[in-house]
Amino acid sequence: MNSIKKRLVVNFMFVIIITVVILEIFLISIIKHHYYKGLEDNLYNQLLISSDLYSRYFSDASLNENILNNVDSFWKQTSAQVQIIDLEGNVLMDSIGITPTNLGNSDDVKKALQGQKGRWLGMVDYDTVAVMSVAYPLMARGEIVGVLRFISTLREVQKEVQRIAFLFIAFGCLVIFISGFVSLILADTIVGPLKQVTLAAEKMALGDFKAKSDVKVKDEIGKLSNTLNYMASEIVKKEQLKNDFISSVSHELRTPLTSIKGWAITLKNGYEDKEMLADGLEIIEKESDRLTQMVEELLDFSKFISEKSELDYEEVDISNVMEHIKKQLTPRAVRDNISFEVTYSQLMPSTYTDENKLKQVFINLLDNAFKFTPQGGKIIFTAEFQNNEFIFKVKDTGSGISQEELPKIKEKFYKGKSSKSSNGIGLSICDEIIRLMKGQFHIYSEIDSGTEAIVKLPLREGKTT
Ligand code: ADP
Repeated sequence: MNSIKKRLVVNFMFVIIITVVILEIFLISIIKHHYYKGLEDNLYNQLLISSDLYSRYFSDASLNENILNNVDSFWKQTSAQVQIIDLEGNVLMDSIGITPTNLGNSDDVKKALQGQKGRWLGMVDYDTVAVMSVAYPLMARGEIVGVLRFISTLREVQKEVQRIAFLFIAFGCLVIFISGFVSLILADTIVGPLKQVTLAAEKMALGDFKAKSDVKVKDEIGKLSNTLNYMASEIVKKEQLKNDFISSVSHELRTPLTSIKGWAITLKNGYEDKEMLADGLEIIEKESDRLTQMVEELLDFSKFISEKSELDYEEVDISNVMEHIKKQLTPRAVRDNISFEVTYSQLMPSTYTDENKLKQVFINLLDNAFKFTPQGGKIIFTAEFQNNEFIFKVKDTGSGISQEELPKIKEKFYKGKSSKSSNGIGLSICDEIIRLMKGQFHIYSEIDSGTEAIVKLPLREGKTT
C-alpha cells in the first residue's frame, strides 16, 4: 500500500473508531441507567404499597410487636429481600435471615429516617454481585416508627446490560469493518488519479513528452494533470522551435560563408585583373556585413528572450525619428526602385521613450516591407498623434501574408515560405519592444495586395509616468 493511501485510510479509520467508541460508551451508559432506573422504580413502587399497608392496618401495635406477631403480610408481595429497621438503624427482621447489623450509616436508611425515599448501590458480604436497596419510612399515627428496606441483586439487570452492550460492540465492530473497507475504496478514488499523473510525469521526466496524463476529474488533481499536459506540449513546441531555429540559422550563416570562402580561394589562387579583385573583395565585404547584421540580430534577440531587456527613457522628438528613418532608407528605395513616402504631422508632442529601440521597430517593419515588395511597388510610412497616442503605419504593396500565416508571424522563429524570409525574429523583437512600451501592435495583410503594420504608443510625459 503506498503512503498517501495508507495515511488516508488510517485517518478515516481514526475518525470512525473514535466516533463509534464515543457513541457506544454513550449508548451503553444510557441503557445501563435505564435498566437500573427500571429496577429502582419497581422496588420503590412495591415499597410504597407495603409501607402504605403498614400505616393503614398495623399502626396500632408497635413495630417490635408486629414483628413478633409475625405480621408479614404487608411486605409479602415482593420478591426482593426485605429488612425492617428500627429508628436506631438496627435490623429487626430480615426476610432471608441475615444476621442483623446496624444500618444507621447506610445512605438509603439515613434518608428514610428523615422521611424520604433512599437508594443505595453496593456490595454485600452474602453475594458476589452488587445489590440495589431502596428504603422508606414506616409510619404509625403520623410518626416514623422504623424503616422498610427492599434489597435486590443486580445480577439479572447486569446480565441484560452486558448482553445489550455486547450486541452494541459487535455492531460497532461491524461498522468499523465496513467503514474500513469503504475508506479503502474512497482512498483509491483519490490516490488512483494521483498515481496516473505521477506515471505520466515520470515518463515525461524520461523525455517522453508524447505521454499524456488523461485524468478526467475536475479537482486539483485534474488541474495538475492538465497543467502537466500543457507543460509537455509547450516543451515539445519549444523543442521544435529550437530545432527550426538552429537549422534556419545554420542555413542562413552558410550562404554568406560559402560565398566568402569561394571568393577567398579564388583570389588566393591569383586574379586576372584589378576589376576581379575589386569585385571579389566587395562581395566578401558585403557578405561579412550581412553576417555581422545577422549575428547582431541574434544577440539582440537572445537579450530579449532572457528578459534582460529594459528601456532607456529619454525625451524624443518623433519628427526627428521619422526624418532619420527617411534619410536612412531612401537610398535603398532608390536602389530597389520602390517609391518610399514618409509623412508625419508637424504638431506632434515629444515623448519619453527609448529612441534606439523605437528606431529598431521601424527599421524591422520597413526592412520587411522592402524585402517583400517588388520593384515598382510603394511603401508609405506615416506618423500621427490622436487621443494622446502616437499611431505609426508602415504600408506596402508587396506580396502580402496569407490568412493562415497572419496569426503566427509574430511568434519567435516563425518565418514565411518566401525565399526572402530570413530567421523569423524581426517581428517577435518588434512585438516585445512595443509590449515594453505599453503600446499595441497589429498587422493587417492581404495576399498579393500588400501589408499594413500599425503601432500605437501612448504619450509619456516623464521618465517615470
Ligand atoms: P523574417 O526575418 O523572416 O523577416 P519576421 O519576424 O520579420 O522574420 O517576419 C516573419 C514573416 O512574416 C516573414 O518571414 C514573412 O513571411 C512575413 N512578413 C513580415 N512582414 C511582411 C511584409 N511586409 N510582407 C509580406 N510578408 C511579411
